[in-house]
Amino acid sequence: MRYASLASGSKGNCHALSDGERILLVDAGLSFLQIRERLEQLGWDKDQVQAVAFTHEHSDHIAALPVLLKRTNWAFMATEATLEAICRIKGVTVPASRWIPLRPGHAIDWNGWRVLPFATPHDAVDPVAYRIEAGGHAVGIVTDLGHPTALVGDHCADLDLLALEANHDIQMLREGEYPPALKARILSRVGHLSNVAMAELLARVVSSKLKAVTLSHLSEQNNDPQLARFAAQDVLRSWNIQLHVSHQREPLEIGPKAG
Ligand SMILES: [Zn+2]
Ligand SMILES: [Zn+2]
Repeated sequence: MRYASLASGSKGNCHALSDGERILLVDAGLSFLQIRERLEQLGWDKDQVQAVAFTHEHSDHIAALPVLLKRTNWAFMATEATLEAICRIKGVTVPASRWIPLRPGHAIDWNGWRVLPFATPHDAVDPVAYRIEAGGHAVGIVTDLGHPTALVGDHCADLDLLALEANHDIQMLREGEYPPALKARILSRVGHLSNVAMAELLARVVSSKLKAVTLSHLSEQNNDPQLARFAAQDVLRSWNIQLHVSHQREPLEIGPKAG
């Protein structure tokens, strides 16, 4: 299975997974045009996209939905509460024929892929992260969480690749320009993962199977990619694991590519 980040950060999030025959996106916080352009940039066949799995209803994860409903025949995976929230926010209806219902903690089979959504602590109606397995590879997509719960750690065991939130440096956020209420929200137990909390979770789930980590959903204002890298490198020092930082404005494909 191949993995790419099409965009990552507070201005839009979209991950792509491919087995060579079909592509599943996780979140669609980019325009339909950008999704297609960035897949093309990577040399992926944009016509292979068949579905989007949503993590939660925040705008940086759902922006493209109204256009995707009109312009594609893609299916949408989401829990019932998240789908309702997304439709309410966007003023659209997703026909039952295009909805693949999810329940946190319950894996579904999607064309031979195992797609497992699991609950995250975040200020949305029913937020989830994903563990997706295909062709013997397991990928974790874990962003938008306020703190690293034991449940999240359990679901990130024995992954091949992990896209993990490193949202902010606590000091940069505290001393930065954000209004106090927004700072409090981000720092809360249901906000976003700091570099320190990311490293704590990474230390819990690192294994000899893990081949690559990409730090994701970095705040452009409240983090510095170098600081996030240092925090992760500290944990990965004695392991032979690729470390990347996903970008807001450009796509990034990350190994392993086999399968
Ligand atoms: Zn987000
Ligand atoms: Zn969010």
